[in-house]
Amino acid sequence: MEVFQPHTDLKYIAQFAKDHELENDRFRDFVKERNEEAIDLQVQQLDAMISPTISCTECGNCCKSLMVCLNESEADALSGYLQQPREAFDQKYLEKGSNGMMIMNQMPCHFLSDNKCTIYEYRFEGCKEFPALHLPHFKRRLFTTFMHYDRCPIIFNVVEQLKTTMQFERDTQ
Ligand code: SF4
Ligand code: SF4
Repeated sequence: MEVFQPHTDLKYIAQFAKDHELENDRFRDFVKERNEEAIDLQVQQLDAMISPTISCTECGNCCKSLMVCLNESEADALSGYLQQPREAFDQKYLEKGSNGMMIMNQMPCHFLSDNKCTIYEYRFEGCKEFPALHLPHFKRRLFTTFMHYDRCPIIFNVVEQLKTTMQFERDTQ
């Protein structure tokens, strides 16, 4: 069986995303019209095929380019692990977003070193979930999925394969 060769060059992916904005807008509308369970199944199958072919420790782009959210219990757990009082921990690592949510105050993330998460056991729910293609309700997350299409090779490759699987008519370039 032919082994799937993903695109992992972040510059290529970002440029492709720029060049295909209109096509992707059309694809989002196309997906919205389709059956939710059928789409979830296709996305989850593609994710299971594609994710193992991409090395997150070689990429690390989400940890470098996203503001990570965390909740009180995650902050408590990590400050305990780092043996820092919460006040000092908050001052060093966190800020309040406009909606009151706590976010890391730095990109790349403080805890990324050599493209690896140095607090892996204590990483946040959002980190564990990303890019969330294994979860149900893909159609409800189209906005965020396409927000990260140009930065995450897993999302990029799954979406591009999904276009093929669904026989979506691509733009002629
Ligand atoms: S906590 Fe770890 S997994 Fe989450 S963004 Fe930071 S380095 Fe990445
Ligand atoms: S989840 Fe996506 S952006 Fe993050 S490291 Fe893996 S491939 Fe890169």
